[in-house]
Parts: sequence; structure tokens; C-alpha cells
Amino acid sequence: MSNVAEIFGSMVFNDQVMQERLPKNTYKALKKTIQDGTPLDIDLANVVAHAMKDWAIEKGCTHFTHWFQPMTGITAEKHDSFINPVEGGRVLLNFSGKELVRGEPDASSFPSGGLRATFEARGYTAWDPTSYAFIKQNTLCIPTAFCSYTGEALDKKTPLLRSMEAINKQALRVLKLFGSDATRVVSTVGPEQEYFLVDEKVYKQRKDLIYTGRTLFGAPAPKGQELEDHYFGAIKDRVAEYMADLDNELWKLGILAKTKHNEVAPAQHELAPIYSITNVATDHNQLTMELMQKVAKRHGLVCLLHEKPFEGINGSGKHNNWSISTNTGVNLIDPGETPAENAQFLLFLVAVIKAVDEYQDLMRISVASAGNDHRLGANEAPPAIISIFLGDELTEILNCIEEGRVYQGRDMGDMELGVDLLPKFPKDNTDRNRTSPFAFTGNKFEFRMLGSAASISGANVVLNTAVAKELDEFATVLENAEDFTAALNDLIRKTIKEHDRIIFNGNGYSDEWQEEAAKRGLLNLRTTVDAEKTFFQPKNVELFTKYGVYTESEMKSHYEIKLETYSKVLNIEALTILDMARKDILPAVNKYIKQLTDALLNKKQIGAAVGTAMEEDLIMKLSAMCDRCYAAADKLEKDLDGVPTSDVLTEAEYYKDTILPDMDAVRAPADEMELYCDESVWPFPTYGKLLFSV
Ligand code: ADP
Ligand code: MG
Repeated sequence: MSNVAEIFGSMVFNDQVMQERLPKNTYKALKKTIQDGTPLDIDLANVVAHAMKDWAIEKGCTHFTHWFQPMTGITAEKHDSFINPVEGGRVLLNFSGKELVRGEPDASSFPSGGLRATFEARGYTAWDPTSYAFIKQNTLCIPTAFCSYTGEALDKKTPLLRSMEAINKQALRVLKLFGSDATRVVSTVGPEQEYFLVDEKVYKQRKDLIYTGRTLFGAPAPKGQELEDHYFGAIKDRVAEYMADLDNELWKLGILAKTKHNEVAPAQHELAPIYSITNVATDHNQLTMELMQKVAKRHGLVCLLHEKPFEGINGSGKHNNWSISTNTGVNLIDPGETPAENAQFLLFLVAVIKAVDEYQDLMRISVASAGNDHRLGANEAPPAIISIFLGDELTEILNCIEEGRVYQGRDMGDMELGVDLLPKFPKDNTDRNRTSPFAFTGNKFEFRMLGSAASISGANVVLNTAVAKELDEFATVLENAEDFTAALNDLIRKTIKEHDRIIFNGNGYSDEWQEEAAKRGLLNLRTTVDAEKTFFQPKNVELFTKYGVYTESEMKSHYEIKLETYSKVLNIEALTILDMARKDILPAVNKYIKQLTDALLNKKQIGAAVGTAMEEDLIMKLSAMCDRCYAAADKLEKDLDGVPTSDVLTEAEYYKDTILPDMDAVRAPADEMELYCDESVWPFPTYGKLLFSV
């Protein structure tokens, strides 16, 4: 086993490598660029590029690429070699500052939601120096943002960087009022990633997994997750070897892979890294997903990242642990030791509460996808209703503040007036509620609605921007206050009063909560389509445009891509269902019916004394189910022919309301037939084989 400390970050052009390899003044200038976000000048870029190239070549690189995150939600790269022809038929290996800083991928085939007409297809990529360059497959990868020539964001990184700037600026204004000497505030994220592992040989026999990433057919196996014997269970050798190999690959890329364990469902696992600054965490999560899949292949496994690979079994999500902290090392979501620190904490806390309440719709949209629609609200993941879990103690403190009561906490000695009206209180992160979509966990919030397959960018764009907006409002009030302490107390009290409907510590899976939430006027946006309809409300447009996170046309592009993708995903699923039903399932069942019929006729020849009840019953049952399945497939096909394409919303709505139920109608009889058929005629591996294949 290699030495972890030695391999960690060995494929990353990180601070230490920069310090070793760059001239002192270049290193200093680059650091300043990274810290202040100032533009990089070309002379500096040339020196950095040269050092990067030498380092990369020593590590065996032949190519470089601008690595970016188009709106498909996955990453993109186009490799260029370092070679440059010189006289004598030879080549030199070159990499210029210009090539480092800016790239021009032919990007006409990436979705842009109408932002970039194909005739002016060119977009450009620009280096994000806050995320280190790294080596993957003998290629030097430069993390970049991807924009159109008119400056519109065509990717998931640019808006994220803009949202981080927004929260930095507004949080600093607030902190200044508390006398902080911080000069930079960043949001931080630790995303816990869930996934399934199945045997590659079994996987390859399932068209649905190959084409759609999830099973579209399959009767439940006799055993599912009901014994809860998989959760945190001993890790099987083959899986353990995979996990070790994966950790190793992630560590080389400087990814802080930390925790790994078995999850609730059979074949389901989780990997959590130590948190980092949000844009880096986002890059790293993309790389983690990529490597999870790649490393699995080496072990004869396939890693499924889909949100709902199996019906009746928990799906996979991603817990987005989010906080904000200063460059002076203060976590702003951490209750402090003194009442004054607590006052600051409470102000940030109520900013988050207000943000989540006012932008429930955007939070829901940020996690919406066809895949995730199968999880949210299905008693395995948070409901589609956004609420905040604070725990009893913190909720009681907020109630006391709201009602002007004295907090009867554990530490009565600390109660004083003024800022000190806000009490000192103990940290409490033992009180966990797994059913809440957005939970305070002691020193951070855990946003638990994200799907396993999606980029974490969108959710953090919304969180950062919405909280920035509240901090902006708070700062304006407090900057103009005559009596800071009084204004602060008023502001906190008022905010709690106006937004405490979003706080819910109970069971998010219960029916009572659905009713209660409706009474409180909270949104319950069950599907992607329902959620997207709320996107263009004036308050949402105002939020994104005011803080320069999305322009209106970028919002439009996001909306189009989201709905278009939704429809495309359902279209592929529907076509796969048709294919499997007609070409695989129905012919297989028919073969079995023929076997039964032959057996029946043979038996009849022997004479009336031989029992044939089983054959007759099965022939009747299966024939009836075949007819139902066949008719449902015909209806699905007919409805697919009638998809309205007038606009993306109408189309997506049609897929949701017509095609999805059609798909279920084909699946139901097929799954039932599986239960009555000879396993040897069934055309693909069952749930039992898939879930217990490793
Ligand atoms: P759980 O109990 O939810 O499984 P874990 O301990 O597995 O929690 O994961 C918690 C995650 O939260 C880790 O990725 C951790 O690094 C992250 N985290 C801890 N502190 C912060 C913070 N200040 N900001 C963002 N993420 C954090
Ligand atoms: Mg968690």
C-alpha cells in the first residue's frame, strides 16, 4: 500500500508545487490573483504555463485540456497535445500562457437553451485559478468556466463563482458591523455521495440500465432492505477493494475522501469527503462521480449514480452540507462562546431561515430532475416540501426571542440585556432528524434533497445568492441604525416572527405534515414540471439579476435546458420500455406459454386423469397479462407520436401527465408476469440478481 501522505495531491498543481516551481514574484502575484480574483496578466500566465507544462510532462502528460462543466451537468474536455512542429521534422513541447488562460472549444453541441445560436457556436473557456490544475489520464486538466462571446454563462461554474462573490460581499458588510477584521467570506460544502454497485456482467444484460441508468422493469426480490442489515454493515471484500482503489485515485487528485460505508439499500454505498470551498467541492464532486464509475470498471463492477435505479428500494441522494466562514477562521453558522458571538450567529441563522422561506421554489428547482422526482416525497428522501429542522433547543431559543421570554437554557448565568438578550447556548448536534430537507446540524446546514447524479452547483448557487440577498437587507438596516444593539434585536425578532413557518422539527414523511404545511402556506412542488413553473416569478428574477448571478436570458436558458432534458430523459425511457416489452418480455413469455401449451396437450393425450390445472391457469393468466402489456405498449407508442412540441413546458407536462402513466401501465403487467414465469426464460436478470450480485 502506498503512503497516503505521499500520494495525496500528487497529481495536483497545488500551492506547494507552485511554491516550489514558480519564481518567487510569480508565485506571489499568482497567489494575489487567486485571493483577490484580479485578472491574470499574460506575462504572468506565460511563466505559470511553462512551469505547469514541465511538471505535467515529468508526470507523463502528453496533452492538456480545459476542463469545464457545461449545462449537461457532467464535465467536458477536449484534449490538445503539447506538440509544436519545428524544423527538421521534429517537435517541441509547448504550452503558452494564452493556452492556459483561455480556450475555444467548438461548443456548438452543448445545450445552451437558445443562448448561443449554432451559427455563432463559439464559446470560450477561462481558467478558474481558485481551483488547482490536475492530471487525469496523462492529460493536464485546467479547471475553467465556459462562456459565450457575449459573456453569457454556458456552464455551471460561472454562476456559482458569481454567487460566491455575492455572499462574500454582503457577509463582509454584516461582519464589519460586528467589528470583524475578516476580508473574505466563502461558502463551504461537504457533499455526501450515495451510489449503487452492481456486477458488470449482470448490468450488461439490462438494456434499461445501459440506456437510462435505472431499471424500468423488475418485480421486487423476495428480500429488499427491510431487515436494514446493509446499513453500516461489514463491507464485502470486493467492495472494500473497490473503495480502497477509489480512495487512492481521489487522494491523488487532492480530493479529501474521508468516510465510506454501506447504505440502507442492498448494494448501496456512500462516500463523504471533508468539506472545502464550494467551487472546489463542486469540481471535486464531479471528479468523484467520474472516478467512481471509472474505477468500478476495473473491478468488474458498474457504479450507478441514478437517483432511483430500483423501484421499491431506496434511491440515492447527495447531502449538501453547507456553511459560510471567514478568512479569519470563523464559521458563521457556528454558535459562539459569548453572547455577542451568539448575536452574530443568530443574525446569520435568521438570514438563512428567511432565505429558505422566501426562496422555497428556487431551492426545490435546484434539485429538480426526472430522476430525483422518483425520490422526493417517497418516504425515503425528504418530502418535496421545503422546511428547516433546527432541533428543539434552538427552536426554543428562537421562540423565546420572538415572544420576549427569558430562555430557560442550561446556562442561566449568561442572561443579560442588550446584545446579551441573545443567550449563550450549548451546541447541540445530537438531535438529528432524517426526514428534514434542510437541517441545522450544529455548525452547518445539511440540504438533503439533492439527487445523486446531479452537479451540486445549482443548489449552492441558490443558497449563496438567497442568503446574500438577506444579508444585504440586514446590513442596510443595521448600517443605518442609531442604536445597533436595539436594531439588531428588533431585526432578529422580526425575522423570526415573519419566517418561523418554515421551521419544522417533526416527521417530514407523515401525512399530517402535508396538511400542516399547506396550512402554513408552504409550497409543495411535487415534480420538476411543477417546480419550474415558479421560476420566473418577479422575486426570483430580481434576486438573480440584482446580484449578477444570472441575467434574464441565462435564466431562460436554464429553464429551457432543464425542461428539455426532462422530456428527453422520459422519451429515452419510454422508447426503452417499448423496446424491452416488445422485443424481450412479450416474446419470452410467449415462449413460456408455448411450453405450457405443449405440456398441456401432451398431458391431455395421456388421459383425463392427469391434472392440468396449473398449465391451464398459467396459460390463462399469462395470456391475459400479455394482452394487457401489449395493449399498454401500443397506447404508449401512440401517445409518443402525439407529443406536443409547441414549447418546452407543454411538452414536459405531457411527458409527466401522459407518458409517465403509460410507462407504468406497461411495466405493471410485465412485472407481474415475471413472478409467474420460469426464470430460465426471463430475458434479463431479476432484481434479486442485480441487488445481490456483488
Ligand atoms: P452525516 O452524519 O450526515 O452522515 P458526515 O459526518 O458523514 O455526516 O458528513 C458531514 C459532512 O459535513 C462532511 O463532508 C463534513 O466535512 C461536512 N462539514 C463539516 N463541517 C462543515 C462546514 N463548516 N461546512 C461545510 N461542510 C462541513
Ligand atoms: Mg448526511
